[in-house]
Amino acid sequence: MKSCWASEYNKCKGKISKEHLISSGIFEQKNIFVQGFNWCKDEEKEIGVANITANILCEKHNNGLSQIDQAGIDAVKIIESTLPSHAQSVNTSKIKMYIDGHNFERWLLKTAINLSVNQGYHIGVGMADSQVGLPSAYLLAVLFGELEFTRSMGLYFLYSKENVKFKAGTFLVYPVIKEESIGAFVFHIRGLDFVLSLFPGHQFPALRSIGLNNPTGDFDYILDSIPQYRNKSVVVSNLNEIERKIYFKW
Ligand SMILES: [Zn+2]
Repeated sequence: MKSCWASEYNKCKGKISKEHLISSGIFEQKNIFVQGFNWCKDEEKEIGVANITANILCEKHNNGLSQIDQAGIDAVKIIESTLPSHAQSVNTSKIKMYIDGHNFERWLLKTAINLSVNQGYHIGVGMADSQVGLPSAYLLAVLFGELEFTRSMGLYFLYSKENVKFKAGTFLVYPVIKEESIGAFVFHIRGLDFVLSLFPGHQFPALRSIGLNNPTGDFDYILDSIPQYRNKSVVVSNLNEIERKIYFKW
C-alpha cells in the first residue's frame, strides 16, 4: 500500500487522496512535460494532468497544502498574462502583477516532490535524515510554511538572450540529477525559466557548467545563463515588443 509522503512531518489523518501530480485548476492545462527521470531520461514525456493522479498524500496533508496550490495557480496565471492574448489559455484580464515568491517556491517544491517520490533519488543534497524517494524533514518544514529556504536554496531566474519560441500552455519540469541526488529542478513555465535549488550553501551555477544532460537540445538557450537569485522583478517581452513586468515579493 502506498503511504503519504508527508507522514514524517506529523501524523496523517484521513484517506490517501487522489492527489494531482500538479495542482489542477491552472488547468485548462491538459498536459505537462517531464524529462530527466529514469522513465524519461532522453526525451520529454507528456503527462496528462487530469487523468494522472497518484495516491500519495493523506487528506490532512493534502488539505494543508491547498493554499499553496492556489498560490501556484495564481502565479502561473500572472506569468501567462504577460503573453499575447492568443497564446493565453486562461482569462488573465484582472490579475495583479505580483507573485509571492516564498509561496511560489513552496508550490514548485510541492510539484517537484510529487514527481520525485519513489523515483529512487534523494530529493535535495546533503539534507539530514534524507531518505531515497522521500522529502527530508527540512523540505517538509519549508513546504508547510514553518521555514523559508535559506543558504542560497530556493528560486533562481534564468534569462535567455534569444527570443524563445514555445507552445501555448507550456509547463516542463526537469530534475537536475547528480549521482544519487536531485540537486535542483528546472521549470519552464509559459516561456519563463526557473531553477528551484535544493543544493545548500552555493549560488546555483550555470547549467552547462554542471554538465546538464540536454540530449534534445531544447535547453540550449538557458545553459549558459547565470542563475539570478530571488529577483524582485522580471521583464517579459514578446515579438510585438510589448513589455510586461512581473514583481516578486520576498
Ligand atoms: Zn499524511
